[in-house]
Amino acid sequence: MERYENLKFAVYFNKNNPHITIHKIPSTHKLDPHRGIHKYNQGSWGYFATKREALEFSKYVSKGRELPEMKHCTKCFKESNLQS
Ligand SMILES: [Zn+2]
Repeated sequence: MERYENLKFAVYFNKNNPHITIHKIPSTHKLDPHRGIHKYNQGSWGYFATKREALEFSKYVSKGRELPEMKHCTKCFKESNLQS
């Protein structure tokens, strides 16, 4: 288990409103924007120390749950630093 302060990326996925989004930690915005909005949809979070782990997780979730490919949160990632 990673120490919380080492976690740099958060991946959100939702089966009922199919999408996977990666966010940075700390985020510039609230990381639970879906709570209360999609009242009947169950979303889940995964937390990772490296982007590589986050990407592998999202691929696994995408395949296993038939979700679209992961998208980068436009608030957390700007086009110039998609790889950071
Ligand atoms: Zn974000």
